Amino acid sequence: MTRTTPPRPVDITQQFPELQQYSVTATRLHPRPGSPTTADSSIGGPLLWPDDEPWPMCTDGDNHHVSELSTPATVRRTREIHAAAWARAAARGTDYELTDEELAQLPDYDFSEPHNLVNQPIPLVSVAQLYRRDVPDFAGPQDTDLLQVLWCPLDHPDEGYNPSVRLYWRRSADVSRPLQTAPEPPVVNDSYLPNPCAVHPEQVREYQYGGLLPEDLDARISAWEEAAQDDEDEDEVRGDGFSYQYDLSLAPGWKVGGFASWSLTDPLPMNCDECRAPMTLLFTADSSEWQGTESSWRPVEEPEDTSPDPTNVTIGRGYALYVFRCPASFEHPPATTMQ
Ligand SMILES: [Zn+2]
Ligand SMILES: [Zn+2]
Repeated sequence: MTRTTPPRPVDITQQFPELQQYSVTATRLHPRPGSPTTADSSIGGPLLWPDDEPWPMCTDGDNHHVSELSTPATVRRTREIHAAAWARAAARGTDYELTDEELAQLPDYDFSEPHNLVNQPIPLVSVAQLYRRDVPDFAGPQDTDLLQVLWCPLDHPDEGYNPSVRLYWRRSADVSRPLQTAPEPPVVNDSYLPNPCAVHPEQVREYQYGGLLPEDLDARISAWEEAAQDDEDEDEVRGDGFSYQYDLSLAPGWKVGGFASWSLTDPLPMNCDECRAPMTLLFTADSSEWQGTESSWRPVEEPEDTSPDPTNVTIGRGYALYVFRCPASFEHPPATTMQ
């Protein structure tokens, strides 16, 4: 099933034609729970990985910030129990309720596996596997057709208390003997273990974050927003009550390309560590696909009660993790910011 973003409530370029020069495309990935294989693009699915290439490990040991640790098996079981309870409630039209048996299987709220389990090499987990053929905004070295995103599923204080991201590009035809079973970390922060999801890529157009537009244009957009809110009934075309930032410019959710929304801090300069070039947004992992049942970003195919959090990934208190790349070289290290 395809996923289609509804048309924007107003076409902002009718009001501000100059925005066209501050515009790029993005591919919304629309992850939904599924059973992807190594031959598929996915979020949290199995990676097409050469069996003679070492699996990436994080050796940050006690440099990790550690609070509650779970085994991947416990995280999966806990999610199954909650999903079954939600499905039961929906089928019967009753309230969400766990049975005594289910409750007994869930770990206590503040339960943690021993913290010293992080003092060993931690196998990274699969975050995304994206084939060039599926993703219109795919970016990678010319002869590659596959981008794999992995992260260490623990908090890294020196990276903004985020999971530590690594990127791999490859030619899928080179992988003649794929790894059968990826190693699993002994423990994870449960917010950083994505549910296996199929993706439903859709290209959309985005406009630059207001704070990164020329000051004068940003100010005129803000004035237009305010005027539209003041004269609610006067002029429908002005898009009463719509926000440039939240409705008209930047798509929420997991995506490739596009722009970052600097909603947590003012825009930070993202410059390459290696060559200082201003970096380009490559990939976004988001805590939700849309906010609230009224959101204009929920695909038209999906009912109002569709979960906006198909991956079960949470970044900080519900933010997004933006992964930037250097436009000069794919070999220069990526950088991340949480917003
Ligand atoms: Zn780590
Ligand atoms: Zn660079």
